[in-house]
Amino acid sequence: MIGFGSIGKGMLPMLERHFDYDPSRFVVIDPSDRHRRLLDERDIRFEQVAITQENYREVLTPLLTAGGGQGFCVNVSVDTSSIDIIRLCRELGSLYIDTVVEPWQGFYFDKGAGPEQRTNNVLRSALREEKARSPGGPTAVSCCGANPGMVSWLLKQALCDIAHDTGHAFIEPGPDDREGWAQLMRELGVKGVHIAERDTQRSRSPKPMNVFLNTWSVEGFISEGLQPAELGWGTHEKWLPENARLMTIGTKVGAYLLQPGANTRVRTWCPTSEAYFGFLVTHNEAISIADYFTVRDGSAVAYRPTCHYAYHPTNDAVLSLHEMFGRAGRPQEEKHVLDEDEIVDGSDELGVLVFGHAKNAYWYGSQLSIDEARELAPYQNATGLQVTSAILAGMAWALTNPSAGIVESDEMDYRACLNIQKPYLGTVKGYYTDWTPLSSRPGLFPEDIDDSDPWQFRNVLVR
Ligand code: NAD
Repeated sequence: MIGFGSIGKGMLPMLERHFDYDPSRFVVIDPSDRHRRLLDERDIRFEQVAITQENYREVLTPLLTAGGGQGFCVNVSVDTSSIDIIRLCRELGSLYIDTVVEPWQGFYFDKGAGPEQRTNNVLRSALREEKARSPGGPTAVSCCGANPGMVSWLLKQALCDIAHDTGHAFIEPGPDDREGWAQLMRELGVKGVHIAERDTQRSRSPKPMNVFLNTWSVEGFISEGLQPAELGWGTHEKWLPENARLMTIGTKVGAYLLQPGANTRVRTWCPTSEAYFGFLVTHNEAISIADYFTVRDGSAVAYRPTCHYAYHPTNDAVLSLHEMFGRAGRPQEEKHVLDEDEIVDGSDELGVLVFGHAKNAYWYGSQLSIDEARELAPYQNATGLQVTSAILAGMAWALTNPSAGIVESDEMDYRACLNIQKPYLGTVKGYYTDWTPLSSRPGLFPEDIDDSDPWQFRNVLVR
């Protein structure tokens, strides 16, 4: 396991409970020994080293090849190249899983690279190229956390629910039937999908000045938050913001804005808070979902949903972002991930808001409280558990499908994965709403809105 931060330590109970393995060959790698006690207590070998472009082959090869059997690399670190490590693992015949297409250190803050070069589309395109270059072979599951990851599985369940509830006759497409799923989404009239997340976990003590607090990787959140806002661009969209650019690289399914995602607000909806402002932080799933559900007519695009993240992190994280952007985007020196003991109450509500169909909009997802998370598994908060249980499901899927090549969560068997994950997700439920981004608008001031279609990005983006 590479990385032993908030997600790495949360993986411990998952691995201990659900897999048979030789504990003497389990090795954890991290340059920081912050949580080392948990490993020492269990006699788990710990290598205190940073994986780099220079040393990754040398460090990982002996660990993945010692003894018989098949190695499994679980990458839950930051600043390590997913693609290079995937290539190595597959050369060695080892299985692999991660939760993000991570680049080597330097990618996110490269001032010499233009905005498009810093998008997740570029990272994902490199992964797709690797998949095309080397099809089949040992399974490497890319981007299998909560989001990206679980939300792709929730989306397929949501589409089946909507089809059922609107009386749409259909035969559920199989896991390998990408076109079938895209066609189903199109037939249902879906215009787009928000990955709608509202994290209400509240820390015991208020955020001090000049400290960035979050419920998962602060480094990871700052990196993605300072990337351009990025979204899958649906075929129903009629208006592009002035500072938006259509992608010119890879599958070209999206657009990016010339502004950081964590400083870009969108209107969306979750069951508990109902309407709220989320941040349009770039995420792999915004691109992979838009790509997966594209219907083509020959080489022309006949249908595509808009897809993006709409994230309201914990209030402390919102204040942390506000403070950081006030400092011209210069991150605070002190960074801290709130652990389960520092949180008094709240939930992470994470799901897909599927909109534009006959029943307007449908949110389907996990509502997991910190109290439930504490009861279900140690060493993690509600956010962490949504992620580690998805990794658990992805690992189980990889073990049953060991020669599937490089796969994304959209390409996996959503039922099998959700069945494994569900015991850790609290309430998993769907909610219809008649809310739209035009509800109660315009208010006291004139607004530039499109009355003809509430689900236009023009109405969703806060300007
Ligand atoms: P974290 O910041 O708590 O931990 C990351 C760990 O990686 C740290 O312990 C750090 O010391 C270690 N690390 C840093 N550089 C390293 C290197 N060169 N080699 C090896 N280890 C290194 O982060 P986290 O919350 O545990 O998140 C881990 C990863 O999971 C991040 O990439 C994050 O973006 C991702 N993540 C994905 C999801 C999802 O739903 N898909 C959710 C949360 C986190």
